[in-house]
Amino acid sequence: MGEFELIRNFFAAAPCAQGGEGVALGIGDDCALLAVSPGEQLAISTDTLVAGVHFADPCDPFLLGQRSLAVAVSDLAAMGATPVAFTLALTLPTVTADWLEAYARGLNLMAQRCGVALVGGDTTRGPLSLTMTVFGRVPSGLALTRSGAQPGDLLCVGGELGNAAGALPLVLGQRTAESAIADPLLAHYWSPQPQLGLGMALRGKATSALDISDGLLADCGHIALASEVGIQVERDSLPLSKILVAFLGQSGAEAAALSGGDDYVLAFTLPSVELPLLMADGWPIHVIGRVTAGQGVTLLDADGQDITPQNRGYQHFRETP
Ligand code: ADP
Ligand code: MG
Repeated sequence: MGEFELIRNFFAAAPCAQGGEGVALGIGDDCALLAVSPGEQLAISTDTLVAGVHFADPCDPFLLGQRSLAVAVSDLAAMGATPVAFTLALTLPTVTADWLEAYARGLNLMAQRCGVALVGGDTTRGPLSLTMTVFGRVPSGLALTRSGAQPGDLLCVGGELGNAAGALPLVLGQRTAESAIADPLLAHYWSPQPQLGLGMALRGKATSALDISDGLLADCGHIALASEVGIQVERDSLPLSKILVAFLGQSGAEAAALSGGDDYVLAFTLPSVELPLLMADGWPIHVIGRVTAGQGVTLLDADGQDITPQNRGYQHFRETP
């Protein structure tokens, strides 16, 4: 199978590649064309997943298809953007129809769930890696950035933390667990659900936001730095799933929530006046701390003591943990 046949069979023919709102021209030309409405801005983000670094190799291509897109679309959720389109740059060591068929099926499922159209890409031979660029639209001036947090704001997250990090030893084959524990944890890891609805609901309300990919403490550090504020996280307010606590114990679950990555849950800062209406609308918001004057991220125990750990999350290129 040649490059063009591969593109045609597995990607151009996929249901998610048949266009959608905002897509003026999809796969097949030198560029795709997106329609941008007056009064809106285009939100753009790129993510690369490298075999052996971001996912185990070999792994299930269907699950990889889901996860690779979910991780990229999560950045649109974090900006409060509405998904429009994505491109896929695929580097493959060998071409097998079975692998491509399963990968494209997983990709398509997540694309349809997120309402995002495949509009182009690139296909090359080499060590397995996937690069997704996602495009979304957001009303001008209403994107959720990292830089607007104000002292006094609440620190909130959009769901339970640590489940995907808890799944990692299962993914890597370092541990096993009964399916009542393993299945839900693995589902968090392999098919995270980008919090698109929540991101849009936070437009004009949250003062800052991001999606948690590197661990809560590390990611809150990005908000603290960009907003020039301090952030206090209350350990006892962390939303932990019963399953995660059963699997890792209380302190292991806390560590996964604080420093594990891959949750793709939104973390955001919110003036307290905004909270009741959002809660009344049913958004799964957990208040886990607050924004202060100062700088950096501090973890507090129930007595208000500083118990900030050394290891705050994963960083590529960092030599000491
Ligand atoms: P060019 O040589 O002009 O860069 P290509 O020959 O690489 O274009 O690709 C032909 C068309 O197929 C383009 O529209 C491109 O965006 C699309 N395409 C290539 N690879 C993929 C892929 N993996 N998924 C989706 N579309 C792809
Ligand atoms: Mg060209």
